[in-house]
Amino acid sequence: MTSWKFGILAGMIITIDGPAGAGKSTVARSLARRLGFMFLDTGAMYRAVTLAALRRKLPWDDGAALVDLAGRVRIYLDDDSVWLDGDDVSDAVRTTQITTLVKHAANNPGVREQLVAQQRAVVGDKNVVTEGRDQGTVVFPHADLKIFLTAGPEERARRRLRDFQARGERITLEEVLAKQNARDASDAERDVGPLVAAADAVQIVSDGRTLEQVIDQIEGLARACGERTGVRMS
Ligand code: C5P
Repeated sequence: MTSWKFGILAGMIITIDGPAGAGKSTVARSLARRLGFMFLDTGAMYRAVTLAALRRKLPWDDGAALVDLAGRVRIYLDDDSVWLDGDDVSDAVRTTQITTLVKHAANNPGVREQLVAQQRAVVGDKNVVTEGRDQGTVVFPHADLKIFLTAGPEERARRRLRDFQARGERITLEEVLAKQNARDASDAERDVGPLVAAADAVQIVSDGRTLEQVIDQIEGLARACGERTGVRMS
């Protein structure tokens, strides 16, 4: 069920922002399943644009070409998969190469403009759990519930190392930590859509807690919010 906001029919929007490796995707996906909401992984969109550019051998210093490409590629996301122009690229967008190159798309204001518009369009009036860096600040500043999820750098690096190992990628904890620090700095320092907590976000630190406990906590906040606004949840 949807609710009225500023005279516009709108769904319930839950944003989960935070740095790499804080567990946002796992938490957001699982929360969306529990509530019966749509899940939107906006990082996958920046990754898909990066992969499209890599496949076309676009020069990374040609920002205008990247903006043009971001407007032309067809990115489709469902709960578990990422599709680029009809191809299932779910694994291809998660390699360390794409993770290193994604800053070219993420730090390009024109690309961000394209993807922000697509994110708003795909959400429409649906109930959604959306995760990224700028969801509560730029994309959905009127969201019903905003979470800023973080954890210490070492804890995040250890989680990401487990992800890489599960995919058979050979990388050390030191390498993961160094790449993560570089990405955190790049995400925090850009002028457009930087990684920053919204003033009205609930800050959650996941160190020393299981993601299950974090999901339970956010689910409690979401259900309380749903009761206040009359949104029906599963
Ligand atoms: O979350 P994930 O690691 O998949 O995101 C990949 C990259 O996309 C991040 O490092 C960040 O630079 C960028 N990103 C962004 N804004 C978002 C989501 C992701 O700039 N809303």
